[in-house]
Amino acid sequence: MDGKSVFVYLAPMHEFSLMASVLDIAAEEMKRHGASRLTLLRLRYGELDNVQPDSMRMAFDAMTGGTPSEGARLELIEEPLLLHCPICQNAFHPSSRGAMFEPCPSCGNAASYSVEKGEGIILEHLEAE
Ligand SMILES: [Zn+2]
Repeated sequence: MDGKSVFVYLAPMHEFSLMASVLDIAAEEMKRHGASRLTLLRLRYGELDNVQPDSMRMAFDAMTGGTPSEGARLELIEEPLLLHCPICQNAFHPSSRGAMFEPCPSCGNAASYSVEKGEGIILEHLEAE
């Protein structure tokens, strides 16, 4: 190691299988609350997740079409990357992905940043009836 940060990207997700998992979780949640029709689903996904919003919508429409949840709203929020410097504890939003490999803007060290935000997919909110 020469002190450069190494980031491993997640393999691009297949939006259909991703959406299927999200809808499974939503269905569980709805069952617990005795709801049967999804009306709103809000997903937050990280900048690093390679999520294509258009494909997500397509998958959502395809999977809810013909079900009681047809016509439900899908909100997609991209979470910008927030990196954390382990040396000076500074957290910052890089201006580009390339900034992950540049010295810390606060202390100037070439650090192995950890990702605070901007990675992972969260089912943030759902509404159903
Ligand atoms: Zn720093």
